Amino acid sequence: MNPRHWFDAVLLSGFLTLPTLWAQAPAPKIIDAHLHHNGDPAFLEKLTAKLDSVDALALLITAPKDLEGVKAFIAKHPNRLMCDGELSLDDPLALELVDRFHAAGCRGLGEVTSPLKNYDDRSYWPIYERAEKYRMLILFHTGIVNRMHPEIPADISVDRMRPLTLDTLARRFPNLTIIGAHLGNPDYADAAEIARWNPNLYFDLSGSSLIKKQDDPTFWKTIFWWSGVVSPHTPAGGPNAFERLVFGSDVFDGELEEFDRELERYHKMLDACGVPKPAQENIFAGTMWRLLNK
Ligand SMILES: [Zn+2]
Repeated sequence: MNPRHWFDAVLLSGFLTLPTLWAQAPAPKIIDAHLHHNGDPAFLEKLTAKLDSVDALALLITAPKDLEGVKAFIAKHPNRLMCDGELSLDDPLALELVDRFHAAGCRGLGEVTSPLKNYDDRSYWPIYERAEKYRMLILFHTGIVNRMHPEIPADISVDRMRPLTLDTLARRFPNLTIIGAHLGNPDYADAAEIARWNPNLYFDLSGSSLIKKQDDPTFWKTIFWWSGVVSPHTPAGGPNAFERLVFGSDVFDGELEEFDRELERYHKMLDACGVPKPAQENIFAGTMWRLLNK
């Protein structure tokens, strides 16, 4: 059998899947799990140049109106960008949108934010089921959220975006990978504790938290406390507790400078907390690389 036929036969047999093959590509140094497209095609050019310069891959949060353009752009830069489809849980067409994002090759959904009901409300479950079926990960905003237009009435509540609402979802949808943005600011302890027991739940620490705690960086050791602890009350043989974190820059409105600032804040905090190099490599890329290749 010539090699080409062998390759087709193996693929057809289902023994090797395309993601498995793709996994053999070298991993990038950085994977940004949380980066917003501002809808401007010029931003994509700037962003790709930035990602090239530091060997990074970003999950690009993409609104439906930008999907076609982003899809075409990603086809030219598949090693630098993947698409995260932005949707509202309350959109009556949400399920169709999940299908559309999936068909366009998006690997994730998000950033989900500002729901009218709690994230774990059962009326949203069909959306999570669909994402689980497609093996798409979901990025949820957790904790405090900005208020850009205080003069406009808004039906938004931080209480509906508490990190604990993700505990229900992680347990109910075991094959769904969930990323909570901002580590539930300020409910860090809640967020970390549910990530401790849910292997399919991760958080990023983007936003104001690392600025708030910059003079007290070892504070995070009290949140991610269980490295090396042997006890029936903590999962056995787990990696470093900080590995419940993944890197997210939360670049938005085209402010690409935030990418480097956030990277520096992460590095400073992880070094101050004595997080070993291999664990840091997982936080900056390894964990996301494994999840994206699952
Ligand atoms: Zn964000």
